[in-house]
Amino acid sequence: MKTLHLTSLGCAKNLVDSELMLGALELSGWRAVADPAEAELLLVNTCGFIRPAVEEAVDEILRLAELKQADPAKKLVVTGCLVQRYGKDLQAELHEVDLFVGIDDQQRLPELISRLPEGKNGLILHQPSCALISSAMPRRLSTPFFRSWMKITEGCDNRCTYCMIPTIRGNLRSRPAADLVTEARALEQAGVKELCLIAQDLTAYGSDFSSSLAAMLRLLLKETSLPWMRLLYLYPASVTDELLELMAAQPRLVPYLDIPLQHVSSRVLQRMNRRYGRQELEQLICRIRRLIPGCALRTTMMVGFPGETEHDVEELLDCLQRWQLDHVGVFPYEDEEGAPAADFQPKVPDEVKQERFERVMALQAEISQTRLQRYVGSEVEVLVEGVSEETELLLEGRTRFQAPEIDGCVYINEGEASPGDIVKVRIAEAHIYDLVGGIIG
Ligand code: SF4
Repeated sequence: MKTLHLTSLGCAKNLVDSELMLGALELSGWRAVADPAEAELLLVNTCGFIRPAVEEAVDEILRLAELKQADPAKKLVVTGCLVQRYGKDLQAELHEVDLFVGIDDQQRLPELISRLPEGKNGLILHQPSCALISSAMPRRLSTPFFRSWMKITEGCDNRCTYCMIPTIRGNLRSRPAADLVTEARALEQAGVKELCLIAQDLTAYGSDFSSSLAAMLRLLLKETSLPWMRLLYLYPASVTDELLELMAAQPRLVPYLDIPLQHVSSRVLQRMNRRYGRQELEQLICRIRRLIPGCALRTTMMVGFPGETEHDVEELLDCLQRWQLDHVGVFPYEDEEGAPAADFQPKVPDEVKQERFERVMALQAEISQTRLQRYVGSEVEVLVEGVSEETELLLEGRTRFQAPEIDGCVYINEGEASPGDIVKVRIAEAHIYDLVGGIIG
């Protein structure tokens, strides 16, 4: 069999694309190996969303190019967001790469690789991207068997002034609900217990064909028995009461919402071209807490956006203090070439951005620990991930309030369980981001 090594960079949405490429390549007789030195084909699925991701991708390409230099029979193929964003520049600069493939042609990889001419530094790119994945595509899951990502849309119709995603991934395309049901059923049959629904903006689902996220979720709930379904990345202005009421009524939709707010200052949000202000956010938090008491909330905040003042940061800290959100990711703003905000003035100096970043992080660490304290003494459902990465003496799992790969976890110090089991755990301790407890019964 022909051997390949795949490096998947960036987010879970990109990982789904990687799994689909692997599925297509395996069907054509390729076998994935962990060691790139043993592979005939070196494939990199890149992220190109922000500057650090671009740097990471280029570093990885150069690392693999060294292996190819030592063994010129190897082929090096690069795909993903970086190619979609900078394809021609990459082709001009990185002669070590045999082929650059844009997002829309990833499913053609087996055919493209089979006729890869010696030493050709080719580029296959369609812009704007308009492809859409489907359940008919073979997929090799790379997550543990009991959880999976399901990408429900591609692209984005929002035009946030700091973001290049619409340029890279194109406008919104939603997958048909029936196709999502087919995929969710197949995943359930494969043993998946937790299905994480992902998109650039989950709430936009169906707006391109007069449907809605709530309508699609109703169908998924009816047609599958998946015990945990998690919604990640909701646009704040589009979180409807209909959706919140459905979540409140359906325990299989875990009470967890990931809503990137980006900021709270109406002035900053307007410059970001977000379609809401501080007042709408106050109302949103109230609505969620009223309709789904105990719902865990995750968000991301950006500090140092051009024109952000000390007053804006005070407003942000004040809201975080009052809202007591469970999980907050904080990012210092960076100019992105081609994004409107790159031309906005005045810029916030790097050291000020860093200082603001640290203040928000420090406050959230205190809040997170206080939030987790409320679980001490209670019994919670935990999906067991397996033996802890910290020590073999503990198991590790997650509650319905902790998303995979981003939030904290539960360390289980009593009882036995296998990966994929959903067990009852009595929580005994709360740390800054993690919980500790023992299995009951
Ligand atoms: S909603 Fe998200 S993906 Fe879409 S433009 Fe805004 S930041 Fe980018």
